[in-house]
Amino acid sequence: MKKIIIGNWKLNLDHLEAIQLLQKINYSLPESIEDNIEIVLSPSFTSIRSLQTVISSDKLKIKLSSQNVSQYSSGAYTGEISAAQLKKLEIEYAIVGHSERRTLFNEVDSVVNDKVNRLIDSDIVPIFCFGESIDERKSGTYLNFIENQIDEGLKGLRKDKVNKLVVAYEPIWAIGTGEVASLENIVEVLDYVKNIIKKKPFFNDDNIKFIYGGSVSPNNAEDILNSKIVDGALVGGASLDASKFIEIIKAVEL
Ligand code: PEP
Repeated sequence: MKKIIIGNWKLNLDHLEAIQLLQKINYSLPESIEDNIEIVLSPSFTSIRSLQTVISSDKLKIKLSSQNVSQYSSGAYTGEISAAQLKKLEIEYAIVGHSERRTLFNEVDSVVNDKVNRLIDSDIVPIFCFGESIDERKSGTYLNFIENQIDEGLKGLRKDKVNKLVVAYEPIWAIGTGEVASLENIVEVLDYVKNIIKKKPFFNDDNIKFIYGGSVSPNNAEDILNSKIVDGALVGGASLDASKFIEIIKAVEL
């Protein structure tokens, strides 16, 4: 299975800065990498149209993701952006259930689940994020907590509709903190989650990628990304620096 590296730019860069960063990243990407690793960038909504224009006119292999999507399809929901609107911009992926949305914007599991379903209805691949807080880890309840997030967040998905899905383990204590989870932590959780998902009606052997996110950097990428169980990484801070992001991509053994 092709590994996937996703850069989550969060609330950074205007559309001109975003174009510059896309071009810097693309310039340094050897073709052998582009053909063997899926590279996805997740800019702010305001940059999507500009990046999409550059990608399609220059025929770049880099793909785009949004950082969020509305749980609603259309109607009187001021400020919301629908999955269908994103699809028109040739968005292939959308991050959903990121811990920053769950904790700072009160996105509960049922909202995350609605968003996942809207994305699937519009043929956009959800990058479904889940992961425990430091309290859940310390108290030893993290696997139960994660199982509940998976059950609730991925409810109602049907095999005939789920072409692809990315499932991202993002322990909250490792996001933006510089404290990366150990490979042992990552393997334990991804293995546990794979076993849960294998029993779901939408499971299909090669349509689901299981990835890790949380302070991935050039220093730790090699160990994480070359583990058999890890299909890729969601990269926040380091994706804003073209050379660090490229180093992370190059850490994947082809
Ligand atoms: C993220 O925002 O999904 C993330 C993993 O951030 P960072 O790499 O900065 O920890």
